[in-house]
This record gives sequence, C-alpha cells and structure tokens, in this order.
Amino acid sequence: MGTKAQEIIGIDASQLIEHLNKALADEWLAYYQYWIGAKVAKGPMRGAVTVELEEHATEELGHALLLVDRILQLGGTPLLTPQDWYKVTNCGYEAPEDPYVEVLLKQNIAGEQCAIDVYKALADLTKDVDPVTYEMALQIMTDEIVHEEDLQALQEDIELMKSRK
Ligand code: FE
Ligand code: FE
Ligand code: MG
Repeated sequence: MGTKAQEIIGIDASQLIEHLNKALADEWLAYYQYWIGAKVAKGPMRGAVTVELEEHATEELGHALLLVDRILQLGGTPLLTPQDWYKVTNCGYEAPEDPYVEVLLKQNIAGEQCAIDVYKALADLTKDVDPVTYEMALQIMTDEIVHEEDLQALQEDIELMKSRK
C-alpha cells in the first residue's frame, strides 16, 4: 500500500475502493462473457466476430489489472473470490446461451454501454479529488467506447450483408 498515495486523495478511501471493486467484478464477468462467447459463436462473419471478442476479452483483463493495482495503492483489498463478482457487479453477466453472432453482439454491446456509464460515474466522482483514479477511469472509459463502436460496426456489417442478399 502507498501511504502517501492514500494521503493525497480528497475522497473517502473506503467508498472509492468499493466502487473500484464493483468495477473489478464487472471486468472479470465481461472478460469471461467475451472469452466464452468467442468460443461458442456461430453465424455470419464468425471469424471476424471471434477475433474481436477475443481482443476485447484480453483488454477487459487489462482493465482488471489496472483496478487491482489502484485498489492496492489505496490500501484496499481486491475481491478475493469469484462469488463476490455476482454480489457486487454493476453490469451483470449475460450467458451466451444463444450462440448466434447477432445475439452475442447485442449482449456485449449492452455490457459496454453499462461499462461506459460506470467509468463516466467513476470519472465524475474522482475529478479534482483523485487525479490518479480519474486518469485511469478516463483511460478505461475510452477503451469501452472503442469496444462499443467495434461491436456496433460488426453489427452494421452483418445487417448490410443481410439486406443485400
Ligand atoms: Fe473493461
Ligand atoms: Fe469493454
Ligand atoms: Mg476491438
């Protein structure tokens, strides 16, 4: 834990750590939703969709790492068991029970839209009081915005393909 790192934040650390842990739960659930979705995906443009889902899975894991590092710097304890993911998640988990690519894209777009809201709220909460967490929230939010756009572009391509037949 970083003693000075904790001293300079102008916000209740335990409240902030709780928000960071909730986001951590979201990232792990998003990671698995993408990762398993990439394995089971079926339908048009399966290859392109699979590559995108796999990339996003890796990036969600990167977000989890950023969150854990920040929680530890603030003297907090990161979630220690997967059971807690479901208890504290903001965005939940949508199982890819229907593996059709359009269904997967829709589920993951909803997840990204939720993630964007989560990091916007974290940025608003930390602006001016915790510049380190603020910068991290902006960085992750920017990735989630790119994720949303990537998935919507695939959705658009599939729609175009269907309409031209
Ligand atoms: Fe993420
Ligand atoms: Fe994402
Ligand atoms: Mg992408």
